[in-house]
Amino acid sequence: EIGFFFPPEDTLAVIKPDTERKEEILEEIQARGFTISHLKDTVLSREMAEEFYKEHRDKPFFSQLVDYMCRGPCTMMILTKENAVEEWRAAMGPTDPSEARETAPDSLRARFAKDVLENAVHGSSNTEHAHQKIQFIFGDIGSESEIIDGDASPP
Ligand code: ADP
Ligand code: MG
Repeated sequence: EIGFFFPPEDTLAVIKPDTERKEEILEEIQARGFTISHLKDTVLSREMAEEFYKEHRDKPFFSQLVDYMCRGPCTMMILTKENAVEEWRAAMGPTDPSEARETAPDSLRARFAKDVLENAVHGSSNTEHAHQKIQFIFGDIGSESEIIDGDASPP
């Protein structure tokens, strides 16, 4: 039998602020075969949210997007799986949940997103972005001391 081999790959996944039923989403991630290699809850500063979504800085929805992303804790995750970047995008479904409910009813956005802005989850769109955003959010993941749960207040 001829198959394809995809080496394990990392992607950055985020459960966005104010998303309800987070536990169900975490279970769903594991049920779909992703390993949650790292997880932390982080409240992004405005500056971090702007940097995180800098590719969208000229979009009409940019300031709303930044407001949304920094209004509460984000659950930041590194997901690991063969072909993780593409598979996590597929698991999320289309950006707009009304489209997702039409074309990908089992997707996370079809089931958990509120609207096109508050669409519950984020995932890197390619491997280059995945590396960049993992570095931006988690820093040097070789150093476990970088992985801190909860708020970012100093000791
Ligand atoms: P995706 O997250 O599916 O890669 P985009 O990169 O196009 O989608 O957009 C980034 C984020 O900006 C989306 O996840 C969503 O939160 C928000 N967004 C996208 N399009 C719109 C829109 N038309 N109106 C409001 N917010 C939007
Ligand atoms: Mg995108």
